[in-house]
Amino acid sequence: MTSYHRDAAARVVMAPEDLERFGAGSSFSSISAALLHHQRENWPLLRSGYASLASVETRSFEFDGFVVKVQFNPGRMTSSSANVDEQSIRGRRCFLCLSHLPPKQRGVAFGDSYVLLCNPFPIFPGHFTIPHREHIPQRIEESFGVLLELAKAMGDRYTVFYNGPRCGASAPDHLHFQAGLKGFMPIDAEYPEVIRRYGRVVKENQDLRSVAVEGYLRRFIAFESSSRPILEEAFAGLLARLKLVLSENEEPMLNILAAYEERWKVLVFPRARHRPSFFFAEGDGKMLISPAAVDLGGVCITPLEKDFHRVTRELVVKMFEEVTLGKAEFDEVVLPL
Ligand SMILES: [Zn+2]
Repeated sequence: MTSYHRDAAARVVMAPEDLERFGAGSSFSSISAALLHHQRENWPLLRSGYASLASVETRSFEFDGFVVKVQFNPGRMTSSSANVDEQSIRGRRCFLCLSHLPPKQRGVAFGDSYVLLCNPFPIFPGHFTIPHREHIPQRIEESFGVLLELAKAMGDRYTVFYNGPRCGASAPDHLHFQAGLKGFMPIDAEYPEVIRRYGRVVKENQDLRSVAVEGYLRRFIAFESSSRPILEEAFAGLLARLKLVLSENEEPMLNILAAYEERWKVLVFPRARHRPSFFFAEGDGKMLISPAAVDLGGVCITPLEKDFHRVTRELVVKMFEEVTLGKAEFDEVVLPL
């Protein structure tokens, strides 16, 4: 680590003891919640982000045994419309590097390599970004274990998620995870019933259950286990399978939601496209919706008010169908898992 990076880390990272007054206990989730209190008190941008969130409008579409919400959230404009091509990324200043953070932004250490920060443009009433300390590319293959540890450390209050570099991450050049208040995404509560109604168990042994889910508008694979090595192996198998079926050399497009309650629940949504067709339409047909993990969890974000009012049930169905893996490829992927 260069001294420039060390100085930035020393400025940003707070010790848990300094957050006791804000409710920090011994668990990492309580330290995270305390950091949020601290930042609401001391960082005006964050305070105004949460003030805007308090007045956001929501619509709701009922489906068979589940719901999809739509949130009008103007604060997400930058993220939804972000150009994430290589040239645009190279030309901008990385907003996750500790040395570039606003002067009032603080964080807490997660292990030696990650820092948890409060997201100043929240979707959840408790929304964090957890970047690596170094500016290294967004990739899940080597960092999946960290996602699991983070989900476990925060699991009593938060769901942790990952957006692939080509399907939702607005900083594809800087490795990071996110976490949001548990119970906010409909999928958190719907999961057991969705598995029961729409799930097909593809593997079940002592400490691993793999379930393929179809009929929930977006196809996904769920892994449940209490063993990190078993989950890492199962996930590596899925990645290899996706690469093979999709003839992909790079990381296959995917979003992941990870929760922990006695054991891990890891939901992997393989993607077919980054953005739905209507994102690129000309004129009236254009709608600025750029789905990532939160949308797949059942909260679709529209940063523009006109889009918020124009979203229909049919459009939600079409969006999920377009951006997640089609039936034929999905079946081929899950076949040998
Ligand atoms: Zn960076």
